Amino acid sequence: MDLATVLLLHKSSFIVGAICFFYVRWRSGATPGLGVLAVGFSLLAIASTLAGLDERLHMSDNARTFWSFSLGANGYGLMAVGLYGLSRRHSSLRDWWPMLLPVTLTLSAAITPWYVDNGLRASVFNGNAAILLALSGLVIARDFFQERLTARFGLSAAIFVATSLSALVVLGFTFPNDAPLPPRYAFFLLIICHFAVALFVLVLVQERAEEKLTRLANTDMLTGVPNRQHFFSSLPKSLGPGDAFVLIDIDFFKSVNDRFGHDRGDIVLVDVARTIARSIPPSSVFGRLGGEEFSLFVRGETEASAFALAEQIREAVNTLDLVFEGKQVSTTVSAGVALWEANLTEQDIQKRADQALYSAKNNGRNRVELFTGIGLTDSSPAPERRLARAG
Ligand code: GH3
Ligand code: MG
Ligand code: MG
Repeated sequence: MDLATVLLLHKSSFIVGAICFFYVRWRSGATPGLGVLAVGFSLLAIASTLAGLDERLHMSDNARTFWSFSLGANGYGLMAVGLYGLSRRHSSLRDWWPMLLPVTLTLSAAITPWYVDNGLRASVFNGNAAILLALSGLVIARDFFQERLTARFGLSAAIFVATSLSALVVLGFTFPNDAPLPPRYAFFLLIICHFAVALFVLVLVQERAEEKLTRLANTDMLTGVPNRQHFFSSLPKSLGPGDAFVLIDIDFFKSVNDRFGHDRGDIVLVDVARTIARSIPPSSVFGRLGGEEFSLFVRGETEASAFALAEQIREAVNTLDLVFEGKQVSTTVSAGVALWEANLTEQDIQKRADQALYSAKNNGRNRVELFTGIGLTDSSPAPERRLARAG
């Protein structure tokens, strides 16, 4: 491939990236880092264009070389800053420190024209790129532990390959006779990496948007706990021995709304939901079914242990200390517990838990009832189903 074509491809890789980043930023609102990344790619496109221009440009060779070098070096700096912001999901002044390297190089080039030496300039330019790319790749990979997006693998891999290729260009210019890969090949492969970086940035933004939508669709907006739809879709396909449902309902919640208003009612709902979420085993499935009703699914339980768990939740909610308008609000919940038995469907156990809850309400509220299969009626609580039996 002749040099003009390679330079055109080189320039195109940055132009395509910049256009995509500007477009996605415009469409998705302020995605941290994307704007800086777009400006970085634009600078690199301009630098690449300048490097390919000849004397037709009304600019001395030295000036053209200087601007091409400094815009490119700072373009890589902005690329690192943008990737930092993108990876961390927020823009901060702290992320700008990678600019120190290209800014220092630009200042030194403005003071002494060391950059006119082609070999030295190419080595310094690619050394700067290799350092900045390596830092960005590390941040993208490290942040995987905070945000597990698979696009991070592709993006950091593309960045690390670009890092290695930039380092190979430096080696090629420093040791022309022992270079593992001639600089022109490394330079060509770098173009593919630029396209790959741009592609994986877009995939990452897309993947993040999808995760956010899924999270929103699965979360109850008021309390922040899983919603009804997510609760049911998280249940195992088939049930077996030891599987238990606990249905929890806030007592006399309507009167909280009536006395203190709906907003305060919301505060109680949020506090109760969070208290329950804190009191349950990490492996359990939990959700707000609607209104002031919550459901819990746990595995590997006995009647006694499932009952004890529901009791623990009831007590935790009891300790909530809420004061509205100087008045103590006593918040209590009632709960119904039911365990799987042979031939029971999910709906059957839910129904049993609901019946047990109904019984808990009838038996005075602020209590837990266990369904034992004897049958429950709302008006005649069966003593054998009560706490003492389960314990
Ligand atoms: P019980 O002890 O029998 O369960 O009595 P209760 O008052 O808790 O039950 P009831 O079904 O009579 O009332 C439930 C109330 O919950 C009525 C409804 O206004 C309120 N509610 C449902 N969803 C929300 C919500 O999102 N926010 C607030 N503030 N109130 C809600
Ligand atoms: Mg209620
Ligand atoms: Mg209710």
